[in-house]
Amino acid sequence: MEQLFACAEVLGVEVRHSPMEDRAGVYYDDLKLIVIDPRLSQEVEEFTLAHEIGHAYYGHRGESPLEEALADEVAAALLIRSHDMWECSGLSDGPHYAVQELGVSSRAVEAYTRIASKRSLLGRIHNEVLRPALRQIGEPQRGCFL
Ligand SMILES: [Zn+2]
Repeated sequence: MEQLFACAEVLGVEVRHSPMEDRAGVYYDDLKLIVIDPRLSQEVEEFTLAHEIGHAYYGHRGESPLEEALADEVAAALLIRSHDMWECSGLSDGPHYAVQELGVSSRAVEAYTRIASKRSLLGRIHNEVLRPALRQIGEPQRGCFL
């Protein structure tokens, strides 16, 4: 979770918690603001925050299916690395491992499966967002970055 907050900071985005009626989270590009419902389970909150960071990464202002899919991909890249399962050797059986051992949401894993083949996208997200975030919170950078 701390890593995700650092990722938001790297992108210059503020994160606030506020109850919402009809959604778990939202990103306002003009305000550089993510709002997350505080009543979510930790797993859902993590994925929601990572997903909204995905919208922030791309500067999305809408909610088209394509934008949702892209935000999910960024979420997967951030979450799965932050759960320490992102290893070069684990690429093939990674998604199943993630579900069973780490409780990562299945939506994240689906997105992960999609981006496993998009190495340049993964590398970009890791270099532009995750690495600076880890540096910021003084976290050792384990595993391999593509
Ligand atoms: Zn979304």
